[in-house]
Amino acid sequence: MAAEVPGDQGACPTILSQDCGKSPDKDSTSHPRPATKMSGEMDKPLISRRLVDSDGSLAEAPSEAPKVGILGSGDFARSLATRLVSSGFSVVVGSRNPKRTAGLFPSSAQVTLREEAVSSPEVIFLAVFREHYSSLCGLSDQLAGKILVDVSNPTEQEHLRHRESNAEYLASLFPTCMVVKAFNVISAWTLQAGPRDGNRQVPICSDQPEAKRAISEMVHAMGFMPVDMGSLASAREVEAMPLRLLPGWKVPALLALGLFVCFYAYNFILDVLHPYVQEGKNKFYKLPVSVVNTTLPCVAYVLLSLVYLPGVLAAALQLRRGTKYRRFPDWLDHWLQHRKQIGLLSFFCAALHAIYSFCLPLLRSHRYELVNLAVKQVANKSHLWVEEEVWRMEIYVSLGVLALGTLSLLAVTSLPSIANSLNWREFSFVQSTLGFVALVLSTLHTLTYGWTRAFEESRYKFYLPPTFTLTLLVPCVVILAKGLFLLPCFSRRLAKIRRGWEKDGAVKFALPTDHILVEKTSHV
Ligand code: NAP
Repeated sequence: MAAEVPGDQGACPTILSQDCGKSPDKDSTSHPRPATKMSGEMDKPLISRRLVDSDGSLAEAPSEAPKVGILGSGDFARSLATRLVSSGFSVVVGSRNPKRTAGLFPSSAQVTLREEAVSSPEVIFLAVFREHYSSLCGLSDQLAGKILVDVSNPTEQEHLRHRESNAEYLASLFPTCMVVKAFNVISAWTLQAGPRDGNRQVPICSDQPEAKRAISEMVHAMGFMPVDMGSLASAREVEAMPLRLLPGWKVPALLALGLFVCFYAYNFILDVLHPYVQEGKNKFYKLPVSVVNTTLPCVAYVLLSLVYLPGVLAAALQLRRGTKYRRFPDWLDHWLQHRKQIGLLSFFCAALHAIYSFCLPLLRSHRYELVNLAVKQVANKSHLWVEEEVWRMEIYVSLGVLALGTLSLLAVTSLPSIANSLNWREFSFVQSTLGFVALVLSTLHTLTYGWTRAFEESRYKFYLPPTFTLTLLVPCVVILAKGLFLLPCFSRRLAKIRRGWEKDGAVKFALPTDHILVEKTSHV
């Protein structure tokens, strides 16, 4: 049943050290497929123009669909075959055991032995792992002059271990083939579900421009977007793409986690440990919800101020240096680049705080407290209504909702699809002006929460100030500094510097009277 392919494993004795095919010179004499014929074949468009409408959508498949080969019959091969068939291609799959795997492929796809599968198509996808490339050496004569598409992804260890990329290794095994790296960033699932359900970009690289063009056309026809990554030397970079794990989020996430741990510990000392030590009261039930809910707004608020602090520091540095042409220190540069992630984490914590706050009336502890208060009132026959507290709470909640609403706007506009639809001035208005408004609203929200508590001695447990007073430090510095930079003496100088003026340099000019317009060109 298992049809052994002649020249399969072991038939290529110099597997790892040399190429599997003959040298190009030898090849030109022994192969019936001369290079001139191949380039002539390649001049023909791979995909019939009738297949792709001008808008990129798929049109009616022509009677003679272009044939594509796939070697391998695993998950990726199956999804690829399905997508190719539905994109109007004729598919032939080469497997070591076609009888076993044929039922897993679309009925219109032909599943056969590998040497038969590679005989007619000019484009062949290799849906096998790197360690199995050498098993294809027996097919090198039939593969000569064809386009081999390498879809493989190394593991992290393999990526570190091998100096050359999988695609370069494949090209070294088959020097008479045109190797193209493509589709490795697209998962079998995305291929199966269709491009609308996943990442649409397909980075492509190859040393043969005509092969790259042909595969780019195929990518288009399949509903994806080709991204030219240059020569095959870029394959290592392309293969590293799926190995990345949320680049750009590590430092902001660690920062948010660090702040959470610090504020949680601080709130634990004030709200749980202090009553336990001083009054013997067991308030440990507050740990899962109440302490978390007092910690989250602290983290959100401080993170939001950390989005705007590097801009303030950069402006101060530019004012001090009297130029914008000197590089910022690396730490400030990195900080400026991570503002989006820090802002999104701030929004995440603020949203969690809102949800936790909505859930407070569901807590047993809260209900018991309310009932006990009501019983006490009935006993005292008192009418509880503290006007000041009512106003404080109304204003506090309203400011919180407004701050969260503004933050959501910032989060939505940071999505690439929305950000791309805004021009620079609109984007800067939302991210800079509205962002600052969100910071001011959050500060007012915190101040109304604190009200006069900062001046009450009983709030200083273990001589520690209440948490909200700590959180106010950085945001207040940012707001004051921003206010300071609005003073004409600073704002005019800053505007000049950002237009290229230098204190000690040759570039000196008078600012136009409409310096507000100049401000709009700020890039910090
Ligand atoms: P798979 O399900 O394990 O399939 C690999 C295929 O390789 C098998 O079906 C088999 O085909 C062939 N094979 C297995 N052992 C072999 C051997 N000793 N010698 C020769 N051929 C052998 O793997 P896969 O998930 O489809 O992945 C295939 C390639 O696509 C890999 O390079 C992977 O990095 C890449 N890729 C996969 C995904 C994904 O989402 N799965 C995404 C991007 C890229 P036959 O038995 O029919 O010969």
